[in-house]
Amino acid sequence: MVKGMAMKQLPGYADLTKRLRFSPEQGRIWRDSERCVLLSQSALTTLRSQLVAQLGLARARRLFWDMGFAEGARCAVEAKELRPDRGFLEAFAVGPQAHALTGFGWTEIETLDSDSASGHFHGSFVVHDSIEAAVHLATDGVSADPVCWLQTGFASGFASSFAGQPIVMREIECQGMGDGACLLHARPEAEWPELDDVEKSVPPLMLANSQADRHEFVPGVSAGYHAVRNMIERAAGTDASLLFLGETGVGKEVFAKMAHRASLRKGAPFVALNCAAIPEGLIEAELFGVAKGAYTGAVASRPGRFELAHGGTLFLDEISMLSPLAQSKVLRVIQEGEFERVGDTRTTRVDVRLLAASNIDLETAMEAGHFRADLFFRLATLPIQVPPLRQRREDIPGLMEHFRAKYAQRHRRKVAGFTTRSINALLMHEYPGNVRELERMVERAVLLVNDGEAIDLRHLFLGSDRACIRVGLALTNDGRVSGAEVGGEKAQSIGHLLGLLRQNGEGLKAVESMIIKAALEAARGNVAQAARDLGLTRRQLASRLEKIGR
Ligand SMILES: [Zn+2]
Repeated sequence: MVKGMAMKQLPGYADLTKRLRFSPEQGRIWRDSERCVLLSQSALTTLRSQLVAQLGLARARRLFWDMGFAEGARCAVEAKELRPDRGFLEAFAVGPQAHALTGFGWTEIETLDSDSASGHFHGSFVVHDSIEAAVHLATDGVSADPVCWLQTGFASGFASSFAGQPIVMREIECQGMGDGACLLHARPEAEWPELDDVEKSVPPLMLANSQADRHEFVPGVSAGYHAVRNMIERAAGTDASLLFLGETGVGKEVFAKMAHRASLRKGAPFVALNCAAIPEGLIEAELFGVAKGAYTGAVASRPGRFELAHGGTLFLDEISMLSPLAQSKVLRVIQEGEFERVGDTRTTRVDVRLLAASNIDLETAMEAGHFRADLFFRLATLPIQVPPLRQRREDIPGLMEHFRAKYAQRHRRKVAGFTTRSINALLMHEYPGNVRELERMVERAVLLVNDGEAIDLRHLFLGSDRACIRVGLALTNDGRVSGAEVGGEKAQSIGHLLGLLRQNGEGLKAVESMIIKAALEAARGNVAQAARDLGLTRRQLASRLEKIGR
């Protein structure tokens, strides 16, 4: 049991204030991984009195309480991440400290007595200078009931999420009722003699401890992200084909998986195929399977992706890369649910929901005659545009944390977050490679950073990437790009390469094969992507690969 623990004995605010960042160049303020706005007391007063006037007191209170609750629950997740190895009280203090940092008033923890094994949770908190009380007193005078709705909602949301069980915090005294300060008592939901309607609305499952599916789920808070999620949810109960459009690396496969998990087919397989990663001649075998003896080397029959996805979902990425013949076969499966394995005369029937993605404009491809119009219209029932990462920068902080946690666990590394300058650089970066580029940068940084240290610029930006970040930073400082600096970097790299060549006595061919291999690696074996990066057609790259014996 902790008694009489004043906030001054608790950790300082450094770890919390460090996460508060102002980026006026982008018109954004960040608190942790979330974008925020500054709201003046007069704006809050207008909002509150208008809502009370239009909705009535009870509904306005519920609205503020729910809003506070959601914010508190989020804050508890951050508390666990921010002070994972500190004691219970230090980690819990993130709630009242965040409340103070955002300007709602400051808290003394009078008593806090909790036992997670038995579910015991009793606390008593004094909040001074509540802004909500001030707003209420200024407009309506002294109230008969407590008035700090956001505050009690926040406290209840934070405590519930933190403790992993429904905890209700209630104001026993309130400044808005003429008391000197607000006194909040915390009890498990069941221990209050009776709850009012608002307090009863504590969601049953608010667990900050829950690790389930965390690494599978890719977070997002931006309007663009939510627009995509809304489209997916709207189609959740149907078998409609979805067509995801957007640049390479925006996470189209992640969203396709999300659509599968939200669908009635979620218990059945999700099978993905990147059409650009398969050589043109093999794509039909890959999709529809092969009968034994269909061609030299087909020593046994094997099923294709359509059969593997039976009952579930098949996701075809870069669908524009399909040959005309493969396109017509795919169309037949969508329309009639049947096909033949390559070299087989027997017809196979499947029940598959098809999701597709493309990073080129399919309509243009259709007009140019490269893509079948009937297939396009079948797929494009519900086209979903996934915006590039640079157009939804508010998703960056959450993604950074997500990938840091994911790869720290996978590679068994201890990583103490990010340095301030690396956070700023990541927020400013242009991300031509989108989410995938950010993920690769963070994974590499997790591998490079010393155990227990924070990720810094040098772990994130290696070689050519450094030129990109300089451009980004130079732009914000004086509004101009220093071309000489970038050119200088390029000249330096070429000079370095020439030095290596002289040393090893290797020729231009060796350099070419090195660059091709590096491009393939960067594109994770995706030949079409590597070709685009190198400014070649896929056919040109394939013939070069053949020459260098790959
Ligand atoms: Zn109050």
